[in-house]
Amino acid sequence: MEIWTAVDIAAKEKQLVVKWIRRCLREVTKAAYELPVDYPTARRDIRVTIKGAGHRSSACAKGVTIDMVPFRKQQTHILEYPAFASDKVIGSRDNVPAEIALAATVAHEISHFVQYRYGPDTRWLQRKYRKPHGEGFQDIYRILRSRVVNSHAESLTT
Ligand SMILES: [Zn+2]
Repeated sequence: MEIWTAVDIAAKEKQLVVKWIRRCLREVTKAAYELPVDYPTARRDIRVTIKGAGHRSSACAKGVTIDMVPFRKQQTHILEYPAFASDKVIGSRDNVPAEIALAATVAHEISHFVQYRYGPDTRWLQRKYRKPHGEGFQDIYRILRSRVVNSHAESLTT
């Protein structure tokens, strides 16, 4: 994991982002999901940028960029892409702990990283990974929301 942090990012903020990235990568690289990569390799592969600039978080085949401003404002909602905002698993949610809102952002961006980096070489993603928020993306994000983010949401209090 190659990590770049803006000068104003605190060590604790960095640790928090890295913790959720690891949880996401550990889950999605389980053998059952048939990605062409194992956890240590995926963890090595990814480039992580952490900012506090108020820009959008983003991702590409090289890695993810996470913006800490919503977390600093203690944002307690997950605002999802309109096409699946009303989905019970991967959709928007209100009144979640700020850490869970951050975790959902991390999971969303890790899903983009996985779709672009490993989609072309993953049998079940090959035909559906290209569209940014399409079926392939949603399938990956569904794994991460249900197995990593939502399952932790219940154990944390607001
Ligand atoms: Zn997105």
